[in-house]
Amino acid sequence: MKIARSLAVIFILASCAVAQNAVQERLHVDATDAPRNILHSTVTIPVSPGAVTLVYPKWIPGNHRPTGPIQNLTGLHIKAGAQELDWQRDLVDMWAFHVQVPAGARELAVSFDTLTYNGKSSTASSKVLDLLWNQVVLYPQGAATDSVQVAASIRLPEGWKFGTALAPASQSGNSVEFQPVTLTRLVDSPLIAGTFYRQIQLSSPGETPVHVIDMVAESAESLEITDKDLASYKQLVAEAGKLFGARHYEKYHFLWTLSDQTAHHGLEHHESSDNGTGEDVFSNPNSHNLEADLLPHEFVHSWNGKYRRPAGLVTPNYQDAMKGDLLWVYEGLTHYLGNLLAARTGLRSPEQFRENLAYTAAMLDHRAGRTWRPLQDTATSVQTLFAAPPQWANWRRSADYYPEGYLIWLEVDALIRRQTNGQKSLNDFCRIFFGGQSGAPAVVSYKFEDVVAALNQVTPSNWADLLRERLNSKSPHAPLGGIENGGWKLVYTAEKNSTMEAAEKASDALDLSFSLGMIISKEGDVRDVIPGSPAYAAGLGPGMKLAAVNNRKWSKDVMRAALRTSVHNQQPLTLLAENGDYYNAYQVNYHGGEQYPHLLRAEGQPDVLGEIIKPQAPNR
Ligand SMILES: [Zn+2]
Repeated sequence: MKIARSLAVIFILASCAVAQNAVQERLHVDATDAPRNILHSTVTIPVSPGAVTLVYPKWIPGNHRPTGPIQNLTGLHIKAGAQELDWQRDLVDMWAFHVQVPAGARELAVSFDTLTYNGKSSTASSKVLDLLWNQVVLYPQGAATDSVQVAASIRLPEGWKFGTALAPASQSGNSVEFQPVTLTRLVDSPLIAGTFYRQIQLSSPGETPVHVIDMVAESAESLEITDKDLASYKQLVAEAGKLFGARHYEKYHFLWTLSDQTAHHGLEHHESSDNGTGEDVFSNPNSHNLEADLLPHEFVHSWNGKYRRPAGLVTPNYQDAMKGDLLWVYEGLTHYLGNLLAARTGLRSPEQFRENLAYTAAMLDHRAGRTWRPLQDTATSVQTLFAAPPQWANWRRSADYYPEGYLIWLEVDALIRRQTNGQKSLNDFCRIFFGGQSGAPAVVSYKFEDVVAALNQVTPSNWADLLRERLNSKSPHAPLGGIENGGWKLVYTAEKNSTMEAAEKASDALDLSFSLGMIISKEGDVRDVIPGSPAYAAGLGPGMKLAAVNNRKWSKDVMRAALRTSVHNQQPLTLLAENGDYYNAYQVNYHGGEQYPHLLRAEGQPDVLGEIIKPQAPNR
């Protein structure tokens, strides 16, 4: 009831804004130079004579931070008719440009280039393009993005095909014109394109809304999805429908770029998601394991993040600051549900699901920074924490609202099941909070109290106190109640954890967090050291580089062998490390061998965790 009423209010406000104050822009993107990572934009913007300020999107939805890449905006020219106008950048707001529009002028023609090269985080390569419209557009300062209508068009390199949730109005050769949409919807609808393209239907013929995967890759071979994965992604559509009970989109495109040259990331949208993985994700079991929850995670965001959104992240335009305090719901719950859906659809086996959870729990249980920085502050300070370097991450903490949000929502799920004797679960919360009426994309904002109210609707309990306690805790230990009430316990053995093993193969780094208390690259660079660990006590720190272990030249194998023999040895380990221009031998007093986390069944307890990851929807 509450959800339906808020929805009506938002629809009315949005339609009034468009009717009365619509700014009609035309945007053309010449993407024929995408292979060398430069995009050419021309934007036509209606204006009145006098002082005008144009802005470049700064606070990017889904990033929750001022990441609009203004440093990559180049070649800017602003014209009124044939007259070139001088522009001045604002002295404080780097995303704003001031111009004086001459008498008689009614529109500005703005042209500029966007540089998209950023090493392995580039958004284009010789064969693929991931076009983010916020990077190629300007709009008048102060305009609500719902009130700016954009008629966008694009010219692609010869022979490239594309995928997007935008509806084409016309297409001729490599040029496509799209039906006009609000700037909000344009930015919410990225486009991927490339030489090697494939579209896969996930819905049965005649079924609505239609779900498809659009893939572009560096080679035709990379597009060879396995039959098992195809069945899992079809099942993902069914499982998400079952979980939420309604869909808030008219069609859904999983946009998927498979490339080792462009960014590996995921960004959520209402009617699509922008997913980037390596080229070998279907053929390499380790890559497959690590990426298995990517599409489920971004899909969940269509409900949790896009449809229901924390009030502090609902802003009228891309220049107003966002507040990240509820990201433990937006990202934390999505991280939990994405992992559940990966298991419920068979993208991960139950064993892989548990190994992943064991690693997450152990990592947080060894987070020294939790003694000074409560989880809440990791969400509140997203704009500074997210891009922080990996060195000292254990003490600084990082975007822990993802993994620790996972543990908290697992704990809530297990508590609901226990309190209701298995009659209810977090699935019920999802239907109440994210369900409602199916239809076109809409935004319904929420606050902390709304989350608590929906939980109380499932089963009354002191949810507010429990959540506040978890968010404000400075306990050195992670909340493991979900694992324990789930019928399992976290243990450490010398046997490798399969998630950590997959991560090691991908990054080549040796993660000794649960033994020596440090993470080391293949070359010996100390990436991080955990305060309070044996490595920390010996004086080691990130930024140093290991040269030798017990006088033998550093390698991961030499280090592993030294750890194994340390169990039967009274002598400390001697680690020779380079620190700038100096070498020093550090004595590490450790005799526990290799240690990796796993989940072990708790005798006599029901397997609630096994119940949680069971498929809910009928097999398609
Ligand atoms: Zn996310």
